[in-house]
Amino acid sequence: MSNPMTTAVSPLIDTAGSGSEWLARYSDSLMNVFGAPQRVLVRGEGCTVWDADGKAYLDLLGGIAVNALGHAHPFVTSAIAGQLNTLGHISNFFTSPTQVGLAEKLLQLVQAPAGSKAFFSNSGTEAIEAAFKLARRHSTGGRTRIIAMDRAFHGRTMGALALTAKPAYREPFAPLPGGVEHIPYGDVEALRAAVDATVAAVFIEPIQGEAGVQVPPAGFLEAAREITRDAGALLVFDEVQTGIGRTGRWFASEGVLPDAMTLAKGLGSGFPIGGLITFGPEVSALLAPGQHGTTFGGNPVATAAALATLSVIDADGILANVQATGNFLRDGLRGVDGVTEVRGEGLLIGIDLAQELAPAAVQAALDAGFIINATGPATLRLAPPLILTTDQAATFLAAFPSILQAAAATTIGQS
Ligand SMILES: *Cc1c(COP(=O)(O)O)cnc(C)c1O
Repeated sequence: MSNPMTTAVSPLIDTAGSGSEWLARYSDSLMNVFGAPQRVLVRGEGCTVWDADGKAYLDLLGGIAVNALGHAHPFVTSAIAGQLNTLGHISNFFTSPTQVGLAEKLLQLVQAPAGSKAFFSNSGTEAIEAAFKLARRHSTGGRTRIIAMDRAFHGRTMGALALTAKPAYREPFAPLPGGVEHIPYGDVEALRAAVDATVAAVFIEPIQGEAGVQVPPAGFLEAAREITRDAGALLVFDEVQTGIGRTGRWFASEGVLPDAMTLAKGLGSGFPIGGLITFGPEVSALLAPGQHGTTFGGNPVATAAALATLSVIDADGILANVQATGNFLRDGLRGVDGVTEVRGEGLLIGIDLAQELAPAAVQAALDAGFIINATGPATLRLAPPLILTTDQAATFLAAFPSILQAAAATTIGQS
């Protein structure tokens, strides 16, 4: 690989500067909603990124389950550049072949019945907002309630926040859009008790990502389908994190058809795009002309990025790689001292630790040249690019025990 320090030059800004200099400028100029950034990154290639000080990292988080094909994938970047060179933005007064082509391709991949439709947004939370508005339109006969799950994460805009469970995210912004109730995730009887003719929609993540990669009991999605169908409520699967090959299947909910599905994160392999798919003609007609919209959503460049992503996943046998590398990682992690549970499917992996070392482990992993993520005090998450090889995964498995030891040393030192 070429020298990162000589290829990160930008004509727009002088990129010279150490990580600590950039971080000082960051804290003087960026709103402090994310906390201090862990590193200043200047370049990526495949599953590797480099920081401003020239240090390389194996990226096992992929921009939070986003960089499906890693960094600077040549086919994706050329599709984006080619489209931008031809036609970049047009508004939804117009359409483009890539927008139509992406809608057709996604409808085929989700095995949607005739009359199903797609809507494109720029992010996951906007896809959820569209689904929330869809649910409000399914209000005939006084369906005012919406059911979501404990520990659910659906985004940060006000509608999505109403569906998100975490009090620390919700409470500073009350009042949120009303009517949403949270019930235990994976609990068929709780769902059966909650859903009746007053419910407009039920929102479910097929695997809860932000909650630490929680996999529901077998049969939960099938039961949710049956319960919502019987009650006439919409079933919405939020596949923003689990969709587009993340679990080794195109969609984590494969085999159970919802009434609506939201997508985003991996769809554009790093280029921002989200989507809502509605299943069948009746659900697809709930949002009438003029009732929803977006300026940027579904633009030619974003839809080209998504089409390129889908075609590489198809052509390169990526789903089989996700299964193989995911199983290899999970098997290797299960034997590690200090690990109490390993969860997930494909390359969405949650790791529970015996002690509350997860934030310290993230720091120790960075020092050792790996990017990982903590979803809680004792839980780590991996969501690497879908192109991660078993050789790359093996370098992490080899380093992980000493990462946990270093984390324990710093944590004990603090207390
Ligand atoms: C990340 C995420 C969202 C929100 O997506 P953004 O692009 O961050 O707005 C919604 N739902 C799920 C399941 C997610 O993981």
